[in-house]
Amino acid sequence: AAKRAGGAGFAFFEPHMNAGVREQLELQTELRHALQAGGQLELHYQPKIGTRGGRISGVEALLRWRHPTRGLIPPGAFIPVAERFGLIGPLGFWVIEEACRQMRSWLDQGLRLRTSINLSVHQLRQDDLVPRIQRALQRERLEPTLLTFEITESMAMEDSESTLRVVENLGRIGVKVSIDDFGTGYSSLSYLRQLRTTELKIDRSFVQDLETSADARAIVEAVVRLAHSLGLRVVAEGVETQAQREVLTQLRCDELQGFLFAKPMPARVMTLWASDDEERPQNLAFADSAFV
Ligand code: C2E
Ligand code: MG
Ligand code: MG
Ligand code: MG
Repeated sequence: AAKRAGGAGFAFFEPHMNAGVREQLELQTELRHALQAGGQLELHYQPKIGTRGGRISGVEALLRWRHPTRGLIPPGAFIPVAERFGLIGPLGFWVIEEACRQMRSWLDQGLRLRTSINLSVHQLRQDDLVPRIQRALQRERLEPTLLTFEITESMAMEDSESTLRVVENLGRIGVKVSIDDFGTGYSSLSYLRQLRTTELKIDRSFVQDLETSADARAIVEAVVRLAHSLGLRVVAEGVETQAQREVLTQLRCDELQGFLFAKPMPARVMTLWASDDEERPQNLAFADSAFV
């Protein structure tokens, strides 16, 4: 592909560009096309499980790109490209509208699945973000409290003033806000208290180290206590082992999410999984008896 470059004066792919840059330019052209053509973007869903009762408490929508030749691309490989090339606006709205359509379809099937949607920092700066969320909710006749928006702690800190404002406006229309990847940023307690959020998600790195690091355990314990004292629910992400689940339950996390329970799955598989959950025996006996 490098040979294409050079020659003509206005060549887009200059010879000195490294493979990474060229790759990004190609991806952004293809992503632009995917957004226009439709049919290539998908939301996958990962369940969150309540530590009391072991039932599904909601799902997180996670974006995937089913590329015609490259296969299924994870968000980490194209969201930064979308952000860099001004495509995150339309992409983000597609996610919101698609998640709302799916929630309506689930409700029509008798499934009440609270859905969490990730926001990018660029979306927080879009003036029409909150009105468009409200329109999507109205179009699908959804109770706003069924929807949660996840913003990462570092995102919130990057632009703390505008984040405060947007979070307040989100609260005004009745949707919930969660702080994602908590523990990796540097938010102050007073800022946290000002943010009108309903949930903290403890970053996977702490969950990963729980079994080997007393520090990680102490941090999780402190975060849970802090969150609860502020009236926030606590979710732990990236739970992969039974041992982690037990410690997190002991430390009184409210909800768990991770490969131990399920990987993110396409909507139609999620439908089966969630329907199954209604009948699933309460197999988390330890969580029920010991810690409620
Ligand atoms: P996140 O919001 O923190 O999402 C959790 C990520 O951890 C997901 O990766 C999920 O598949 C993965 N994960 C869940 N459980 C486990 C586990 O037990 N072990 C391990 N190793 N990983 C686990 P994914 O789907 O690749 O998403 C990565 C990030 O991309 C997300 O992190 C989020 O920041 C971003 N993202 C995903 N979808 C969207 C979207 O629609 N909009 C925006 N702006 N960002 C999104
Ligand atoms: Mg998230
Ligand atoms: Mg997260
Ligand atoms: Mg994360």
